[in-house]
Amino acid sequence: MRPVIMGPVATGPSESRPRMVAVAAPQLCKSCGVCEDSCPVGAIVVEDTLNIDRQKCDGCGECLEACPLDALSMCEV
Ligand code: SF4
Ligand code: SF4
Repeated sequence: MRPVIMGPVATGPSESRPRMVAVAAPQLCKSCGVCEDSCPVGAIVVEDTLNIDRQKCDGCGECLEACPLDALSMCEV
């Protein structure tokens, strides 16, 4: 049998591919900070309000599990 030679896979620029990031519902979030501690990549900063760095967020979903108020969800960017 002849070997199959695989060429490079054309995937296009990563910026053009949709990915999932966490977003917070401001009307539900009480800025408790629980999700900040749960994020493994440090994408969440809670001061007066909650801020999620979309560049850092890898869509793991840990913060959604951690939030006691179900204030977080995933959205495609
Ligand atoms: S855990 Fe939920 S309520 Fe607390 S800061 Fe995060 S999103 Fe807001
Ligand atoms: S989805 Fe994961 S990486 Fe993104 S903010 Fe939540 S815990 Fe952090």
